[in-house]
Amino acid sequence: MRWRNWPVALVQYLYRGLFPSRCVVCGLRGAALCSAHAVFTPAPVREAAPPLAGLVAPVAYSGAAVPLLEAYKYTGDRSLAVVLAAEILPKFPPEWTPETTLLVPIPLHWTRQFWRGFNQSALLSRALAEATGIPQCALLRRRRRTQQQARLGKAAREQNLTGAFVVRKCACSLPRSTRIVLVDDVYTTGATMRSAAGALHAAGYSDVFACTFAVAV
Ligand SMILES: [Zn+2]
Repeated sequence: MRWRNWPVALVQYLYRGLFPSRCVVCGLRGAALCSAHAVFTPAPVREAAPPLAGLVAPVAYSGAAVPLLEAYKYTGDRSLAVVLAAEILPKFPPEWTPETTLLVPIPLHWTRQFWRGFNQSALLSRALAEATGIPQCALLRRRRRTQQQARLGKAAREQNLTGAFVVRKCACSLPRSTRIVLVDDVYTTGATMRSAAGALHAAGYSDVFACTFAVAV
């Protein structure tokens, strides 16, 4: 835990003490989702547009997935990241191995991360990395603070994200043949993922996939 995250960690600690694990939909005590609500609608088939090579996303953004992701974004609760990862993992192609693949979370701009105290994509990426042994790396940096995508129309979303991501020089001097799997919580128009994949392509990584918990329907 970095020092600047301590207020968030404290709030999470107190919150968990006051409100032990409850279903995020109905509030039943016991787990983050009760057995009645731990049921998700399978994602519709959605082709990822170039420069993405493909999309792995198990769940439709509807029903219990909506309050689950809201609770996750609001609290940054790691136990919820594990719930999301458990849905994604059976969809991981077998060729995504620790030797060939790298998980890269979609970054927030540092000012947004500072105020929020965590990056929900990085927590999910970490949960996936811990379960699979596939390494993860913060290979991307958000160059400028973009407007919140939800408030913009489709054309404006693409415009908003042009040049938003920069590829960091990675200390592990990654071969350019490494398969990159971009991790985020939800795939809406795909504009964010395509912008990030475009930056990676420009840096020489040509095999870039998107992986999210949910897909907008
Ligand atoms: Zn419930």
